[in-house]
Amino acid sequence: MPPDRVSGTGRTALSGAAEGIAVQYRYWCGECGFSTGWTGETEGRLQLLRHCRRWHRGIPVGGHRERARGRADRWGGCLVALCVGLALVVPAVVLLVLLV
Ligand SMILES: [Zn+2]
Repeated sequence: MPPDRVSGTGRTALSGAAEGIAVQYRYWCGECGFSTGWTGETEGRLQLLRHCRRWHRGIPVGGHRERARGRADRWGGCLVALCVGLALVVPAVVLLVLLV
């Protein structure tokens, strides 16, 4: 295993997701156990490319991408819940106003 693990690699998905609303990715090297930290799509791909160029010269860049369930997903869930809640409350309020 190469000694150049990117700083911040040991952190959890939560710390990565807290940095922004954008979806976070972690890129894993296909040749060794290296992984980038939680970061944006472009930045992660660049980090993996740099790693491969340094440690696996001459081997095509491989590996896989891990997607963090970040804040973006949770916001989506909240919005759906909010819409459902409003859809239930608004007719009730309108009915109440009409009846009174
Ligand atoms: Zn590697």
